[in-house]
Amino acid sequence: MEGIKVELHRDYRYTIDVENGVLEELERYNDTFFRYEKAVIITDANVAPLYLKHISKQISQAGCKVHELVIAPGEHSKSLAKAEEIYHHFSEYNMTRSDLVVALGGGVVGDLAGFCASTYLRGIDFIQVPTTLLAQVDSSVGGKVGVNLSKGKNLVGSFYQPQAVIVDPNVIKTLPKRNFSEGMAEVIKYGCIYDKDLFNRLYYDRGNEIKNGLAEIIHRCCAIKKEVTEEDEREGGLRKILNFGHTIGHVLEAYFNYQKFSHGEAVAIGMYHITVKSEKKGITKKGTADKIKSILEKNDLPYTMPYLEQDKVEEILFRDKKFSGDKITLVLLKEIGEAVLVKMDRNQLIEFII
Ligand code: NAD
Ligand code: ZN
Repeated sequence: MEGIKVELHRDYRYTIDVENGVLEELERYNDTFFRYEKAVIITDANVAPLYLKHISKQISQAGCKVHELVIAPGEHSKSLAKAEEIYHHFSEYNMTRSDLVVALGGGVVGDLAGFCASTYLRGIDFIQVPTTLLAQVDSSVGGKVGVNLSKGKNLVGSFYQPQAVIVDPNVIKTLPKRNFSEGMAEVIKYGCIYDKDLFNRLYYDRGNEIKNGLAEIIHRCCAIKKEVTEEDEREGGLRKILNFGHTIGHVLEAYFNYQKFSHGEAVAIGMYHITVKSEKKGITKKGTADKIKSILEKNDLPYTMPYLEQDKVEEILFRDKKFSGDKITLVLLKEIGEAVLVKMDRNQLIEFII
């Protein structure tokens, strides 16, 4: 499959390669790695035993001195404290602007390593090697990097584009099932907001389509995110459609202290629930919510909204960074494959959630 060329500014280009087995053939990137004196591969303790040794070896063979940094897996590693630890390692290794950071892992590693690369020495190059489905279709594309604060997720960060994104769908084979489903929630989201064919492919799938056609599906998702991001790198307008299901999703995650639902599960409920409501209001074509429900079920994702107390929901909603000002933009569907942005006030928003 041809690489997806991302062109954000006239002078900034990179490629997203999506190919089964590409990590087995990293020598094809030798010219890229050769440009750097040193590379620091950042990964987590689950991914390290599976892929680190092999990748480290391949990059060294390109003539690049490799350092390895293995962090603890999980969201709590996406912190300023961890970033500071990593800066200290960078300085021990005498990293300069002609060196490279390689993020090998899921969204946590990608966001954290990308954030460190974007800030150390005011920016050193980095390459994303995403290893979860969510990271392959979402977090590694689009240039958002960052860490969490105790007050909220992703509160500190920047927009920083990688030199390349290397996606090997084969690594998804080792991913735990729940993480796979979580990534599928984002895949389903792309179908809902932008691509009826992709949606139908998932809708009519009898089990083989996703398994055998995963590379193609990931490729399509990256292409959609690229298209949307190129139009709107800093989320002025179009990029907001990527937040379909996420307003409710974020409320659910926070409401249950990030314990009950994973991000993808919360988004799954959000996509279905908001579509049920917008169908009732005549904004969305009838039958759309049912179709979404059927795909979610097939992918072992939840769709039923749990009971929520309105006061607590309001508290969560209106302290969020995206909800300042009087009007809030909500992403709804006109029909499968077509999203609309609807501005509403706080009371109207609550009606959509409760
Ligand atoms: P994650 O990075 O925590 O990975 C999930 C789990 O899978 C971890 O335990 C990890 O060790 C393990 N793992 C990773 N690859 C594996 C593999 N191939 N085989 C076996 N195990 C593997 O979580 P995630 O879901 O990838 O990413 C979530 C993060 O992404 C969140 O912090 C979220 O804020 C961020 N995110 C960022 C963006 C963005 O635009 N930057 C977009 C969406 C999400
Ligand atoms: Zn998401």
